[in-house]
Amino acid sequence: MPYKGDMTPRRDAKWWGWGDTAIEPTLDDQALAVLRERIGELEPWPLSRSLEEVELPAAEPLPQTLIAAVGEENVFRGDEDRLRHATGRGYVDLARLRNGALTAAPDAVVVPTGAEALRRAIEVCTAEGVAIVPFGGGTSVVGGVEPLRGPHERLISLDLGALQEVEVDRRSLTARLGAGLRGPEAEAALAGEGLTLGHFPQSFEYATIGGFAATRSAGQASSGYGRFDALVSSVRLLTPAGEISTLATPHTAAGPSLRELAIGSEGVLGVIPEVTVRVRPAPSVRRYEAWMAESFEAGTEIVRGMAQAPGLPTVIRVSDEEETEGTLALSGPRGLGGRLFDGYLGVRGRRGGALTIVGFEGEEESVARRRALAVRALRAGGAAYLGQAAGRSWEHGRYRGPYLRDTLMGRGAMVETLETSHTWSRFGELHQAVAGAIRSSLDGQGTPGLVFCHLSHAYADGASLYFTFISRARRGAELEQWAGGQARRLRGDRRPRRHDHPPPRRRPRPRPLHGGRGGSDGTGAASLRQGAARPRRDHEPGQARAVTGAAVIREEATTPPERLRSFR
Ligand SMILES: Cc1cc2nc3c(=O)[nH]c(=O)nc-3n(C[C@H](O)[C@H](O)[C@H](O)COP(=O)(O)OP(=O)(O)OC[C@H]3O[C@@H](n4cnc5c(N)ncnc54)[C@H](O)[C@@H]3O)c2cc1C
Repeated sequence: MPYKGDMTPRRDAKWWGWGDTAIEPTLDDQALAVLRERIGELEPWPLSRSLEEVELPAAEPLPQTLIAAVGEENVFRGDEDRLRHATGRGYVDLARLRNGALTAAPDAVVVPTGAEALRRAIEVCTAEGVAIVPFGGGTSVVGGVEPLRGPHERLISLDLGALQEVEVDRRSLTARLGAGLRGPEAEAALAGEGLTLGHFPQSFEYATIGGFAATRSAGQASSGYGRFDALVSSVRLLTPAGEISTLATPHTAAGPSLRELAIGSEGVLGVIPEVTVRVRPAPSVRRYEAWMAESFEAGTEIVRGMAQAPGLPTVIRVSDEEETEGTLALSGPRGLGGRLFDGYLGVRGRRGGALTIVGFEGEEESVARRRALAVRALRAGGAAYLGQAAGRSWEHGRYRGPYLRDTLMGRGAMVETLETSHTWSRFGELHQAVAGAIRSSLDGQGTPGLVFCHLSHAYADGASLYFTFISRARRGAELEQWAGGQARRLRGDRRPRRHDHPPPRRRPRPRPLHGGRGGSDGTGAASLRQGAARPRRDHEPGQARAVTGAAVIREEATTPPERLRSFR
């Protein structure tokens, strides 16, 4: 497929929030009453400025050599494009945009029209000392696309949206995909060949192939299809020092792996123009269903059993009791349907249980086989079947969560998420520890919150935990509230508690890829030393150390010594 004709940066999503401007879910009276009861009275938080009114810092002029290298028509200096490339889509980003207060923006957005133009742009930026921030879909929640200049006077956002190439090797079941393809664009191109990539993170609709690779993304169906890193067959990385192109081979015995260096590098080492991924035939059957486990503990035990045997479902997630209750209260069935549902849970003795979603995708025979195994495990573990309608409703609403975040913020709420993982032996303990740390931090700030969690991906040796918390935003001090909660936990300056907990991880501050001047030694290798990015999501069990952080745990003076040892 040729490169797309339209080389302008995309402007099709809300500039201040998530996604399609036409989608703005509302909260009904029941949901508002629950929020009022659990987190207190909220003060509306409207957008304080229109797009045109947001003031940006003045842009530094770009070197003529850069403009000549990429073509004047591919350099965008307008405020709208600079603003749209100044932040990601985490709570802090959205709070800043809502308040119309941005202190930094790229000097320009540059859209290379192909890999060769991209290579020239990196070369000139390296020579001229212009910092580069690679930009895919801009959905980063960890400050990944922030224009942090460091010692550099000039900084560009390198928008990779025009890299849209698709080349399928049907026989090997691989596809070379341009970095700028969004999730649905890649899936649509593959669907034309009867194939799927099977990577569906919640940000699927706007995030890109390059972004998935740069962040080692995990999708909602990763238990079945594998995380993005497992889907990468080979990758190209253009760096200030030259190009890395890994071997397109199913496996190599040579190490260390350059592929591993490139994926997860968060734009710090270089720019990924394309990724060759493993694809598979599009599923002919998709079956989603919901169950109610007796408790989160019982539900996670069922999943452990499934994950340690062959035939894991494609999607498996178990909400803890608070998330289950909150989900039903905020968006569960209403009226007669709600009463019938509640009555059914009562009859089955599963009120207060843990909502469990299982999804199966594949050929009929494979779905039937895996479902039979799952049903046996769910029944043996005491889960009650809720039917396909509830499962389908989860499937259809799987990309709606971020829209609801905008609605909640507009009502005056702080909404944040974080993800971690651990081995099965310490899984329950980590769940309690992180939920407890979030709760006590919110309580300590006088803004008690709802703290939801679900098991989102399962592996033979452990699973990941995805936390969402909602509390009243401290209007006028939203960023201080967010940062204050982090600082309190990181300093450990709260009063000692008997069961002290590891905190959620800090927001990492990836630094931009930069050219040779202005603080680096001009070799390009300097950018390697700058690699400060920490990926947000830990999906490999045993990586909890990155979440808890040894330094943090040492400061938690009241943590029992045996816990200290295990979390380090
Ligand atoms: C509502 C919401 C839901 C999310 N759900 C998930 C989820 O389910 N699973 C998950 O893993 N993540 C999730 N994320 C996080 C985010 O969407 C992912 O990290 C995604 O992979 C980022 O892709 P992107 O194209 O938007 O990258 P960007 O946000 O544009 O960039 C992310 C980082 O990668 C770098 N980068 C981007 N493209 C390239 C490239 N071609 N070459 C080199 N560096 C590059 C950037 O410089 C930046 O450091 C979610 C985010 C939001 C806002």
